[in-house]
Amino acid sequence: MLYATSAAGVALAVRAVLVEPPPLWVAAIALGAYLAMLILGVTFSRFSMFADVVTQGGDDARGVALTFDDGPDPKSTPKVLDLLDAAGAKATFFVIGHKVTEHPELTAEIVARGHALGIHSYAHERLFSLRPPWQVKRDLERALDAVEKATGDRPVLFRAPIGHISPAMAGVARDLGLITVGWTARGVDGWSGAKPDTVARNLRRHMRDGAILLLHDAAEKGDFVPASVEALPAIVEAAEGQNLALVRVDDWLAAEAAEEATA
Ligand SMILES: [Zn+2]
Repeated sequence: MLYATSAAGVALAVRAVLVEPPPLWVAAIALGAYLAMLILGVTFSRFSMFADVVTQGGDDARGVALTFDDGPDPKSTPKVLDLLDAAGAKATFFVIGHKVTEHPELTAEIVARGHALGIHSYAHERLFSLRPPWQVKRDLERALDAVEKATGDRPVLFRAPIGHISPAMAGVARDLGLITVGWTARGVDGWSGAKPDTVARNLRRHMRDGAILLLHDAAEKGDFVPASVEALPAIVEAAEGQNLALVRVDDWLAAEAAEEATA
């Protein structure tokens, strides 16, 4: 789509030079539409314009993938790990690099208890998507190094801070061999006023095979315990009620890669 609209823009410009200038209003609308599309592409990663963002499992994916962002945090992550263990559930944690550096043992424990670990940048900057490629690369490499130091493994999964993907970020992630993971639905639990009932309800509606659900095991600044922690038993129950296993995102990716290899 990006290429198609870019090509249309170029065609319009060529025509303006060779044939006749288009009426000003046509040019204005075309330019406005093009800019709106670029902004949408950056804001809503589900449009997958700039990057291959995984927002759900493939057609063969079974179960639901719970994903937890913004940890690890000793106040809340152990509680989430205990609740997942009690349910026999596996999940994916997108950790913030500087918190990994502060809590390496807790980071290692997430892996030891059978969960997948991805990076969620090092500094979790709000304006990360506006950074030039070299700054994005430096930040992501720092996050990868922090996780590797804590766990011995270099992650392959990446979720962008605030979910915004810029072309620069998508390119850097690809160069670093990272798979960018978005989400199918989110619990909207990233603010201190979120109610556990509401978070559970937000997610219950999207419980189906292949869904990637976005939760938080810690607040971005560690200043409150996200409602997801209290909502987790109800979320687990909703999945069990529909006979949906709670699985890791990379379980599906591994299955797809194996299928592609044999196809
Ligand atoms: Zn985050």
